[in-house]
This record gives sequence, C-alpha cells and structure tokens, in this order.
Amino acid sequence: MNFSTVNSERLMQARRVVLKIGSALFVDQELGVLRHQWLESLCADIVDMRETGKEIIIVSSGAIALGARQLGIDPSHVRLEDSQASAAVGQIQLAHAYQEVLGAHGISAAQILLTLDDSENRRRYLNASNTLLTLLQNDAVPVVNENDTVATQEIRYGDNDRLAARVAQMVSADCLILLSDIDGLYTADPSIDNNSNHITEVTELSDEHWEMAGGPRSSHASGGMRTKIDAARIAMGAGCRMLITSGRVERPIQALRNGARGTWFLPSSNPQTSRKQWIAGTLKPRGIITVDDGAKAALAAGRSLLPAGVTSVAGEFGRGEAVRVTDQSGSELGRGLIAYTSDEAQVIMGLRSEAIENILGYRGRDELIHRNDLTLIGHGSS
Ligand code: GLU
Repeated sequence: MNFSTVNSERLMQARRVVLKIGSALFVDQELGVLRHQWLESLCADIVDMRETGKEIIIVSSGAIALGARQLGIDPSHVRLEDSQASAAVGQIQLAHAYQEVLGAHGISAAQILLTLDDSENRRRYLNASNTLLTLLQNDAVPVVNENDTVATQEIRYGDNDRLAARVAQMVSADCLILLSDIDGLYTADPSIDNNSNHITEVTELSDEHWEMAGGPRSSHASGGMRTKIDAARIAMGAGCRMLITSGRVERPIQALRNGARGTWFLPSSNPQTSRKQWIAGTLKPRGIITVDDGAKAALAAGRSLLPAGVTSVAGEFGRGEAVRVTDQSGSELGRGLIAYTSDEAQVIMGLRSEAIENILGYRGRDELIHRNDLTLIGHGSS
C-alpha cells in the first residue's frame, strides 16, 4: 500500500476533522511540562488544513498530567480526587497553550469541557453539538476535554479516545484522527511481540480486533488500544472514518501525507446518512408535530421547521427528543430532534420566531427542529 497516496486522498476528502491529542504527546513524560515546540508544529498542520477549507476540532488530553506535576502528585497513581484537583490546575495551562499557539495564527481557540452526560442525555447532547457547530461557523477551533474536575468515577469517560469519537458523532465529522504514541493497531502488542504485524485498514470491526488491542500500555494515557477500538466502533457507527497514527513526529499531519503509516477504520456509510438513520430508525418518537402546507413545502426544500408553521403538538417530550412530523392529512413527513419541550412547543406553535422570547421569557432557538436534526421520509440517504 502506498501510504502517501492513500493518506493524502483520504485527508483531502475530509471536510470536518476531529484531532485527538494524547497526553504523552502534549506533555513531556519525563519533565512533566508542555511540549511547546511540538504543539507549534501541530498548529502549522492545523493552519494548513484550514487553508484547504477544513474545519478542525481538537480533543486534547493532558490536563491531569500537567496539573499533577505542578501539585507534586505522581501522575501514575492518582486517586479520583487527585485527578480532579490536577485537572483543575492543568486545564488552565492546557487552554492557555492552545490559545497562545492558535492565536499566533489569528485563530480563536474555544474551550469546551464535556462530561459523559453531555453526550448521553439528549437535551445536553443537542446543546453541546449546537455550541460546537456555532463555533465552527464562526471560524473558531474548539478545544475539547473531559470536564475532569466534576466527573466522578461512574459518570466519566476517563479517556479521550471515546470522548473524541462522541464529539465526532455530535458534529457529524467525517474524519477522526487519534494522534497517539503508536502508529496504529498491531496483531499483538509490538513492544512485547516482535512478530506482530501492523494493520493498515479495518472495514469491519470484529472480536479479532479487540483481541489484538490487549490492555493499556502507556503510563500517561488512560486509553491504550482498547479504548481506541471502542472509539472506532463509535466513529464507524456514525459514518466517520478514523485513523490511529503516531504523533511522535513534528508536523504529524504533513508526515501522513508524506507516507507515515497508521490504521484506517473505514465505515460503509457517511456521517449524514448515519445520523439520519439514527434519528429515523433508532430513536423512539415521543410526540407528533403537525405542520401547515407552507411549512411542508419549506421542509421539502431543505429548510428547518419554524414554530410559525406548526398547527398542533401532541405527546409529551423533552428537548432533544425525537418527534414525528406530519402534514394536515396526518401523513408522516419525517422525524426530527426537537429543540423545545412539549409544553413550550404548545405555546409557541403558530408564532413567529421573534415572538418566542416574549412568550417564554427567554430567547431560545429560532427553529423548532433544525434541518440538521431532521430526516424526511424518502430523503433518508440524502
Ligand atoms: N481528560 C484527561 C486529561 O486531560 C485525559 C484522558 C486521556 O488520557 O485520555 O488529562
């Protein structure tokens, strides 16, 4: 396989890329300090990618490793409360570092701290993904990490591999790159087994891949290969390509174009199709929104559903839940994730979006169902 050609083509096709930076790359393992020069080199890669029209989201680890060092805590033996305290100290440094290196290129860095709940709970999922999308529209680079200061054992990812895959799913990214201390998946752990072979491509995950992944290796990363395979499962399910590659070199993205190897995980569908299938097929609809003919035509033309076009609201639902959308004759037009609760939808239906604030007392979203959150029947694969 010619890695240079394959990597270049796949990178060229990507429009929205999530880059996950492992702790071992961000923090010098011996000195416990930030690897500034490497970060600047990564930033040069990010500038390059943005110049070719790509949107970039960073998911960066390193808060705990940095903070633990500053507080004098041994990063390999931290208790939960130690990691919470370490993250509080380290996250400031992490955010500041990105602000500085991206700012030097005139790019706004935006800090987003997520908990497991933000990706599992529908309402919070919708909020987090809307914020991320708004940041991208405004040309900023979101820098995401887990909110380790408030996350407790039961409600925490604990690793940024899966978090990055969830973020990729949230924003319908088409490419997730896990920059790691290893250049991909091997048939066995290469640090133990000299006969292990590098895997270049996975199109379907199987038990075999989980076996290959073994257990965690690096003392700095909570991840190891298992969480990367789990991330691949999430990303592939969301129609997002994923690459595990080494970030040990400077300009790791440029290195990929020049032929550095990695393991590509290639899903059979794309993010748009997967998301629409998820909305249309997986989620249980909690209510029915009936729309007038004007709204029906607007939806068919690819627009969002505004409260003005709604004539009735049935069922009980919370924000971010799935609902059916039907026309005046009761035929289903499609399904979508609704931005208001059933009580709110009842009072704002038929109203222009500008009137929402007066009625509800706060300014919510203009759309009742955003077009990105809507799947029309017959348009499932569009
Ligand atoms: N969220 C953790 C941190 O910033 C990293 C988790 C991981 O290593 O994947 O320190």
